Amino acid sequence: MEFKENEMMAGHTTFRIGGPAKLYAEVMTTAELVAALDRAESEKLPVYLLGGGSNVLFSDKGFPGMVIKNSICGLQVRDDGTVSVGAGVRLFDVVTACCSKGLSGIERLSGIPGTVGGAVRGNVGAFGTEMGSSVTSVKVFHRKTGEIKEFGQEDCQFGYRMSRFKREPDLIVLSIELLLAPGHEPSTLLSVSKEVWADRESKHPQDVFCAGSFFVNPIVHDQKLREEFSRDAGKVPKDDKLPAGWLIDQVGLRGKMIGHAKVSELHPNYILNTGGATAEEILTIVSIVKQRVRDELNIQLCEEVQFVGFGSEKSL
Ligand SMILES: Cc1cc2nc3c(=O)[nH]c(=O)nc-3n(C[C@H](O)[C@H](O)[C@H](O)COP(=O)(O)OP(=O)(O)OC[C@H]3O[C@@H](n4cnc5c(N)ncnc54)[C@H](O)[C@@H]3O)c2cc1C
Repeated sequence: MEFKENEMMAGHTTFRIGGPAKLYAEVMTTAELVAALDRAESEKLPVYLLGGGSNVLFSDKGFPGMVIKNSICGLQVRDDGTVSVGAGVRLFDVVTACCSKGLSGIERLSGIPGTVGGAVRGNVGAFGTEMGSSVTSVKVFHRKTGEIKEFGQEDCQFGYRMSRFKREPDLIVLSIELLLAPGHEPSTLLSVSKEVWADRESKHPQDVFCAGSFFVNPIVHDQKLREEFSRDAGKVPKDDKLPAGWLIDQVGLRGKMIGHAKVSELHPNYILNTGGATAEEILTIVSIVKQRVRDELNIQLCEEVQFVGFGSEKSL
């Protein structure tokens, strides 16, 4: 394992934004993870754990500690529908491997960037499927106690873009067991996964510099607004939530630009780095969006994206 000094975080995030980490290491095994954490401890450095970097915004100043990229590998996909996967494996690779083996359950998560560890921690979802529904157990390393523990599905406390691992940042996901439905036609599953991917791409190009949806969809009780949404979108709000992108559009911020940061014209919940944007510009546009939605609609938007190096995040 190599430790790099002053590694630019812009190169490790889908936002392509972020200054240097004092130290950076990529770990492929639990033993390497423990060794990296030991070094951080002995040098009294704060630690930030990174997966695929698709849901984070690093500050322009970077991170004054050690960033550990979790690339813990290993993938076993069995005929009976059970899957064992290392937290650092790309979600896309797991989806493809499972579809190819005729295992159904996660094919609609196709196209979500990042690692399986990140997906489980954030309980990612798309097209009516959530990652947590296919998880049977999760093995974690407890940063403070050094213990390795295994949590069953119930203990993972999955909710909308939520899990126990998000609530308790001392828990580092090492590996995951899934249970999918076996016996499906691989070509059917692969074409579902391709259609989903094409659908995502048709709604918004997926290779832009961003972190996906910036805000979680808020629960909205305002009946008038809910009716307006139903009229506009031709569907009723799901689970009492209104899409954050629709709310941002209502306050007229679709396409708003600050420097090189932009509220996407196609999907206003995507905040884009159009090329050369700083974290400061992203933060400015985010605060304008939050303030306008709060002032005009009385709704508080909350970020899904994690902020790192701004001094207020919880480092591990
Ligand atoms: C174009 C685009 C489209 C997207 N579409 C969707 C979508 O449809 N649905 C959706 O839900 N999300 C979507 N996302 C968001 C993002 O892809 C997911 O949140 C993803 O699961 C993040 O995983 P990651 O490995 O990149 O995590 P990172 O961004 O590296 O980290 C995110 C957080 O997870 C923590 N973390 C990472 N790995 C672990 C681990 N092993 N153990 C404990 N904590 C960990 C990090 O510390 C950090 O706090 C999209 C993003 C982009 C850029």
